Amino acid sequence: MGRRLATGRRWLQGQEIPEVTLLLNHEILAAAYDYLRATPPFRDWNLPESEDVKFVVTRSTSTAGTHSIKDGKDVICVSSGCIGRTLSLVELMAHEMIHMHQRVVCMESRGVEHNAAFKKLVLRVSKIHGFDPMLF
Ligand SMILES: [Zn+2]
Repeated sequence: MGRRLATGRRWLQGQEIPEVTLLLNHEILAAAYDYLRATPPFRDWNLPESEDVKFVVTRSTSTAGTHSIKDGKDVICVSSGCIGRTLSLVELMAHEMIHMHQRVVCMESRGVEHNAAFKKLVLRVSKIHGFDPMLF
């Protein structure tokens, strides 16, 4: 049973919108990471192999994803409560990979989650991949 689309594209109005069926697991997260890591600009960023990253599926309904370092290892968490579609997953993974890159090259600003350099990278990544930079 899906939800009905109240607004949006005319051709979808009145149509049944299917429930999300993409069930996340750490293999899917690693595959999304590997895909992006093989493409520009990520392939030039010297990011760790997916085997060296810990991928965790959470159930948060408020935080779609996070990147952190735990015991010297990159950890990417993605919430199945927020992400249920392939494009959303890939865009979120790209977001977290920009955080990883910023950490690697020390481009982070203390107390600022998304600094000017982050936003510049978002525009670059979005231009290459056709992502919506407003979603980042
Ligand atoms: Zn972020």
